Amino acid sequence: MNDSFALAIHGGAGTMRPEAMTPAAEADYHAGLRDSLRAGHAVLRAGGTALDAVTAAVMSLEDNPLFNAGRGAVFTHAGLQEMDAAVMTGQDRAAGAVAGIFGPRNPVQAARAVMEHSEHVFLIGQGALDFCRNQGLPFAPPDYFYTERRWEALQAELARQAVSGADTRDDAAKHGTVGAVARDCLGNLAAATSTGGMTAKLPGRVGDSPVFGAGTWADNASCAISATGHGEFFIRWAAAHEVAARMRLRGDTLEAAAEEVVAELGRVGGSGGLIAIDAAGRIALPFNSQGMYRGRIGTDGIPHTGIYREALQVE
Ligand code: ASP
Repeated sequence: MNDSFALAIHGGAGTMRPEAMTPAAEADYHAGLRDSLRAGHAVLRAGGTALDAVTAAVMSLEDNPLFNAGRGAVFTHAGLQEMDAAVMTGQDRAAGAVAGIFGPRNPVQAARAVMEHSEHVFLIGQGALDFCRNQGLPFAPPDYFYTERRWEALQAELARQAVSGADTRDDAAKHGTVGAVARDCLGNLAAATSTGGMTAKLPGRVGDSPVFGAGTWADNASCAISATGHGEFFIRWAAAHEVAARMRLRGDTLEAAAEEVVAELGRVGGSGGLIAIDAAGRIALPFNSQGMYRGRIGTDGIPHTGIYREALQVE
């Protein structure tokens, strides 16, 4: 049996003009991605499950204010933060998701609690929050989640909408998502995704991240997927499930299915990308936007990370 393990992560995709990024900021993104990869790798190296590994990797990104999930999530049109998250395991298609929550320190833990401790798959809003409190999950105060940068991004977006001006800013400043997929040493797959959604979204809007088959999917028979990008398109094209279906029903390789679905989304206006892993531990990280914060790590424990179209870098 192949007892190797592997993990891939993303921290959002979009237009990321290199000229708008300082070398120091770029280094911070690479460091944040490496921290997440190492958190997931530590779990897998110790013989832990793919589910524990993707949870650890996503929690690391949620805790990092650079990424749009947990601390540092974007603001809605009403100036609030509403977060969505999901987890899924490939051996049994167990799944849990939350949407429109604000308070739980790590939304991915809320999604996991729904999966493991409720009879349901998806909880939203106040009911989800009550459930998280009953489960004893850690909550954080509003100032923990607030960042100046995301608040300014909301003000800029509201000003732009007021004059219907052209949208020239980096979309990386306006949305993003974090996610992880893993194959553990038993060959089981898992996926986790967490997001603040899109800057200036209408209150109550839910993106693709917590929608199974759109932004998150895991099935040992095909692959585990976490997506990032313009969520409405990923929902309408059932992006994550589409990749899995092409593998399962048409015999496509992971790479071919993932690349083609992302390219097709790009042609209809669905900018973004996804990370995918199959039962053999093969990884694909396609995106149709200018960049995608991303990384991968295998049994050797060496993190590989990238932002633009360049080959992944080693520290
Ligand atoms: N997919 C996320 C959403 O639509 C946003 C992103 O990944 O950039 O909520």
